[in-house]
Amino acid sequence: ERRTVVVVGAGPAGLTIGGILRAASVDCVVLETESRQFIETRPRAGVIEEWAVRELGRRGLAERLTERAEVHSACEFRFAGERYRFSYGDLAGSHHYVYPQPLLVTDLVREYADVRGGDIRFGVRDVTLHDLDSDRPAVSYRCPRTGERRLLRCDFVAGCDGARGVTRDAIPEERRRIARQDDGIGWLALLAEVPPSTDCVLFGVHPRGFAGQMPRSPEVTRFYLQCPPGDDPENWPYDRVWTELRERLGAAGAPPLTEGRLIEKRVLDMHGYVVDPLTHGRLFLAGDAGHLVAPIAAKGMNLALHDAFLLGDALAAYVTKGDGSGLDGYSAACLRRVWDYQEFSQWLSDIYHGVASGDPFRAGTTLARLRRLFTSPAAAAAFAEQYLGTAAAY
Ligand code: FAD
Repeated sequence: ERRTVVVVGAGPAGLTIGGILRAASVDCVVLETESRQFIETRPRAGVIEEWAVRELGRRGLAERLTERAEVHSACEFRFAGERYRFSYGDLAGSHHYVYPQPLLVTDLVREYADVRGGDIRFGVRDVTLHDLDSDRPAVSYRCPRTGERRLLRCDFVAGCDGARGVTRDAIPEERRRIARQDDGIGWLALLAEVPPSTDCVLFGVHPRGFAGQMPRSPEVTRFYLQCPPGDDPENWPYDRVWTELRERLGAAGAPPLTEGRLIEKRVLDMHGYVVDPLTHGRLFLAGDAGHLVAPIAAKGMNLALHDAFLLGDALAAYVTKGDGSGLDGYSAACLRRVWDYQEFSQWLSDIYHGVASGDPFRAGTTLARLRRLFTSPAAAAAFAEQYLGTAAAY
């Protein structure tokens, strides 16, 4: 079989690229190891920056999102027993959309496959990349029903298979550098069947550890609790979770948290990596396949979308007009925003975890940084820009 572009992975990155290619009538196929039902219900991110929604909209991919997403333009820090509301929207003239990732993935699959007639193959096994150095690369996989091996010859491969995929490792070690960062900190990521206790994101900076609340919908709320890296979620029974959340998010005059059933409980290690370059021959990495950012500042899906806009547009320009400039500049253009967001996440990680570090000096400087956000308009404006991603030019 011969295709123009093979996209490996149907997450936000792969599906956005597929949607852009279909709109430009570029032949492509998307390969995904999981089922459609699985990817449409896998809970993960929920915060999308305004510029990303605007760019999705320009490509006809945001209709349902803009109808249904909540708009957020403030967050609240809680520290030293007090609440501090931070209205970043007023400062940066921009806002966030809260839209759960499974809904975005559902919209993107529908648009790519059902509306634009794109070819998507679910449940594939043993995906392998071949001949990336040549101008005729190929991707092979095992068919889920028959067990038979299929080979797709193509012009380009988009590696969008996330942090645990195979495309990153198809770049020979001597041709890429992977910069890694590990904070040595874990977060217990929880989803609870409760409405959020406030109308905005909460960050609790507490001597017992960080705690966060991220609204997802009127029925479901995400919470985070700092914990040892690699901790077992079973160490966190219902009562311990709610006691710690109440303690770490407690502040004078704060409305009580609504307790309820926990429908997801997993430990995430706060680590990240950046692959440089994001390309090798005819392979282009996009999203978590090429760079992982800890969920500290809710940046991962936004970076995945940024890569996808650049790669989708660049592939379409090359195939339809012979214009290779987008592909040539792809890696450097993506990495500029990636490093900007990594730096912000690291800065925020220092704030979230400094007070609980056990080091009184670090605790003191952390609280000074936090207070500065509420006393210095320049510090507040800089934070707002970075939190909303408006500082990095698109
Ligand atoms: P993925 O979404 O991981 O998609 C990759 C796809 O490839 C998957 O469907 C996978 O099944 C498939 N796949 C894997 N291996 C193969 C293979 N060999 N062959 C074919 N297919 C394969 N980001 C934000 O911006 N805001 C947030 O608020 C936020 N919160 C988060 C909370 C949590 C708990 C987690 C875990 C992440 C969060 N993120 C957040 C990060 C965000 O979810 C990711 O950055 C985003 O999903 C990356 O999209 P992607 O398309 O690159 O990869």
